[in-house]
Amino acid sequence: MGKIDLASIKAVDVHCHPYVANEEPYSPEEYLRKLSLSVMPNMFKKSREGSTEKIFPGMNMYMQITIQRLAKYFGCKPDLRDVVAKRNEEAKDFSVFTQKLFKDVKLEGMVVDFGYPTPPLSKDDYQELTGVPIWEVYRIEPVMVRLRESHETFGAFVEAYREDLKEALKQRHIVGLKTIIAYRSGLEIGEKNEQLAKDQYEEFRLNDRPRVKEFRDYCFHIAMEECTNSDKVLHIHTGFGDGEVVLPKASPSFLIDLLRSEKYADTKVHLVHGGYPWMEEAAFITSILPNVYLDISLQNPFVGHGVERIISQVYELAPFDKVMYGSDAFTVPEMNWLGVLLFKECFERVLADWINKGYMDKDMAVEIAEHMMYKNFERVYSDYI
Ligand SMILES: [Zn+2]
Repeated sequence: MGKIDLASIKAVDVHCHPYVANEEPYSPEEYLRKLSLSVMPNMFKKSREGSTEKIFPGMNMYMQITIQRLAKYFGCKPDLRDVVAKRNEEAKDFSVFTQKLFKDVKLEGMVVDFGYPTPPLSKDDYQELTGVPIWEVYRIEPVMVRLRESHETFGAFVEAYREDLKEALKQRHIVGLKTIIAYRSGLEIGEKNEQLAKDQYEEFRLNDRPRVKEFRDYCFHIAMEECTNSDKVLHIHTGFGDGEVVLPKASPSFLIDLLRSEKYADTKVHLVHGGYPWMEEAAFITSILPNVYLDISLQNPFVGHGVERIISQVYELAPFDKVMYGSDAFTVPEMNWLGVLLFKECFERVLADWINKGYMDKDMAVEIAEHMMYKNFERVYSDYI
């Protein structure tokens, strides 16, 4: 039978975020909160004082799997309180803890979005903490916010903004730009219209986080242009995310006209999170457009047992050379670790099923896994890594 073991294959995580050590040990509740996508304080309910319940408010399958796998890793009882106690002990030397977890699953490189958390953490510190090579995507939204302070007119802003992106893209370790326009005005991006953008500049300057769709669309086009000029990649957040996303406008299908336009035929685009829950749309787009790629971060590991389903679903249309491994880990190294661990065990089951059905032999299955885990990344980003 087609048993397959992916443990020896290295992983490069193409989308995640940095973090620092916690200063105080976590309570079980705080720890669950760290694992949650409900990043806003009022989104997470507290359990009753003195409760001994096994199920904490907000606990889901992904958290349950994390607890179960960590208990195995630590050799303790699969109970949140025991796991967190053990974790607090082990994480006293945070760097040793982190690097042991990374080595355990052969996580050997990461593309990091330093745009979250804010204020940004230091790349050098994070590199030292993790001990693996780190590449970076450079987020455009913080640049827009920074430059609006010092530029009174739209014209001066646009010039400074373009210059800033250009300078960033000159740095070798920056593999591309990143946009979270799906969190601000959505992915239904219009034509590049200078007058409409200019009309909204004042509103963008005066308010903390206004929608100003025309203005944001204009800035998005400039990012696409600069990625094209430097032959680097634009990472676009697609699909769900943390609690603030503009969900009705987050499907990658909103991008299709733009992506297939003549102007951007050579632009490399990376659909971050593979558009979940619209991953078939993302997969379809990568299947028809030669320069569009996707990763499975965020859906993996946050859909828990669903990771097996989403791997199978993405490959219904996505070519083998277009999909990349990712986690979107953003608070603790256990997230990076569980990302690889859960992904590999689910992928093993999917591949074993394909071998058993006679769709491929074991060699082909391993080749597909290697492409997903690191080869596609190394090919697409070969000029800067
Ligand atoms: Zn992210």
